[in-house]
Amino acid sequence: MKKDTLLTHVARDPAKYQGMVNTPVYRTSTVIYPDLGSYEARGGDDYKKVRYGLYGTPTTFALEEAIAKMEGGHAAVVVPSGLAAIAAPLAAFLKTGDHLLVVDSVYGPTRTFCDRHLKPNGVEVEYYDPRIGAGIDKLLKAGTRAVFCESPGSLTFEMQDIPAIAAAAHARGVPVLADTTWGTPYFFRPFEHGIDVSIHAGTKYINGHSDILLGAIVTNERCWKTVRKTVAEYGYCVSPDDCYMALRGFRTIGVRMNHQMASALKIAGWLQARPEVKRVIYPALEGDPGHALWKRDFEGAASLFSFILNPARPAAVKAFIDALELFGIGSSWGGFESLAIVARVEGHRTATAWDPGGPLIRLHIGLEDPDDLIADLEQGFAKLKSVV
Ligand SMILES: *Cc1c(COP(=O)(O)O)cnc(C)c1O
Repeated sequence: MKKDTLLTHVARDPAKYQGMVNTPVYRTSTVIYPDLGSYEARGGDDYKKVRYGLYGTPTTFALEEAIAKMEGGHAAVVVPSGLAAIAAPLAAFLKTGDHLLVVDSVYGPTRTFCDRHLKPNGVEVEYYDPRIGAGIDKLLKAGTRAVFCESPGSLTFEMQDIPAIAAAAHARGVPVLADTTWGTPYFFRPFEHGIDVSIHAGTKYINGHSDILLGAIVTNERCWKTVRKTVAEYGYCVSPDDCYMALRGFRTIGVRMNHQMASALKIAGWLQARPEVKRVIYPALEGDPGHALWKRDFEGAASLFSFILNPARPAAVKAFIDALELFGIGSSWGGFESLAIVARVEGHRTATAWDPGGPLIRLHIGLEDPDDLIADLEQGFAKLKSVV
């Protein structure tokens, strides 16, 4: 089955639900058993059986199955946020005295979790250059218990050579965890590139409508029990209503992403030719430093990218962003609507220097007509120039 067909048919079983196209919303805390024997036999490692609301209902399982199958993983578990999907596997693999390698361009709250929770608990956290590739071998130690990747980073978009990193890590039996939110299960196949644990902010493109917080962790067979048990032990659980909505959004991820990628490429190309713009940072563009890796490993690009303005006064940058009428000013991405922010990376890195040479603007391109978005950016640039 091709991926668009799978996306339409995966995790549906109308015969089981009175002919309903979608798995309905099942809400429960308690599950009642026919007799004491079956109640007392309810536990174990089979988290795909209904046993208690915390571990999911058929609504949860449908979403988990859809994400896992689209990505080609062994199984998936959903958690209340993307950040929870990062914290749980890190907690699962690391204990006092262990060593963790984390990419320097990682999502800010991941770094905060490592610095404020793992480090004080005695985990040695070491940040590494996103472009390290096979060179990660030199940083792996006897106590290294996980390598954390994010490719590309969601502000600066450096691509990582994941297969090279995974080969070095696996040679020492170290699992590779990766935040694959940008790639999505539609455009990236993590398990074919050596990732053991794939982490998603389902909040973004999987749900796609900016109205739900959700995380998903997909693993290979080897890592499944460790990760699934830890999620259960932390008590993470997602409302079946949110699972239903997320699966409803996920069904259309293909049309959304293909459309949004085409718009993003058009807008990025337009920006490249603008005198106000120093450089566009988008691995999908030819000439981007990460383009070759992106082309080798990805089937498409998210509509999230950045560009560097030529040096401009803060008041001019503010005038530009404030002038935008179609781009919302706000966090997150992956919804149907466009967003713009000034990305402030300065001072956050420890392993590499980041000096873009001008203000860094991050855009999320939504489902609007790209020509309208271009016109909006153009009038924004007029405002930028009017501030002297
Ligand atoms: C948004 C985001 C997250 C966290 O997702 P939440 O659901 O907001 O907690 C994790 N990683 C990346 C790359 C993100 O952009």
